[in-house]
Amino acid sequence: MANILEVNDAIADQVGRRLAGNGVFALNLMGSPGCGKTALLEHTIAALKDELNIAVIEGDLYTDKDSRRIEVQGVPVVQINTVGGCHLDANMINLALDRLDLTQLDMLIVENVGNLVCPAEFNIGEQARVTVLSITEGEDKPLKYPLIFKKADVIMINKIDLLPYTDFDLAAAIQDIQALNASAKLITASCRTGTGLEHWYDWLRTQVKKTGEVVKGCLK
Ligand code: MG
Repeated sequence: MANILEVNDAIADQVGRRLAGNGVFALNLMGSPGCGKTALLEHTIAALKDELNIAVIEGDLYTDKDSRRIEVQGVPVVQINTVGGCHLDANMINLALDRLDLTQLDMLIVENVGNLVCPAEFNIGEQARVTVLSITEGEDKPLKYPLIFKKADVIMINKIDLLPYTDFDLAAAIQDIQALNASAKLITASCRTGTGLEHWYDWLRTQVKKTGEVVKGCLK
C-alpha cells in the first residue's frame, strides 16, 4: 500500500504542475453517495460559469448519469468510470486532462467516487479538498471517518433545510469537525434552498484569483 501511494503521489505532483502551469485551480470534491456532491456542482456551475471557465471530471463506479447532469450546463466534462474502484487516482486524472483544454480553464472540479474512506487516501494533484457531509448521514460520521475530514480545506454540512425533520445534532457535528480539523473552512448550506452557498462561491472566487496571480507572478 505504501508503494502504491508513493507512485500515486509522484503522478499527483505531475498533475499538480500541469494544472498550476496553466493557472487552473483544481478541487477534489468528496463525500458519501447522496450527500449532494453533484447538486453542489450544478449550483456552482450555474452561479459561476459566466465569470469563470469551469470544467468537471466525474468519477463514478458505473454510468454517466452525473456527467449528463453537468453536460446540460454547457461546460466541458470528462467521465471516469472506475468499474468497482472506490476512488479516483492521479493517473486517471492525468489521462482525463488530455481531453480538456487547460489553457482555457480557470477551475477544474473533480467529483470523486462517493464514499468517506478511499478518496481521502489518494492525492489527485488537486489544490484543495472539499468534504461534503449531509445531515441525513448522522453527526457521528466525522469521528467514524476522520481522515477525509482531517484532510479537507473546506467542510460543507449540506441539507440543513432538513434539520427540523431529523435528530441531527448540528452543534455536536461542528464540535467534532473542529476537533479534527480546526483550520478547515466550515460552511453550513442547503443546495436545495441555496442557503449558505454564497460563502462557498466567495471562497472559490478567492482561490481562483490566487491561483491566477501565482501564474502571472511566474511569467514576469
Ligand atoms: Mg454524484
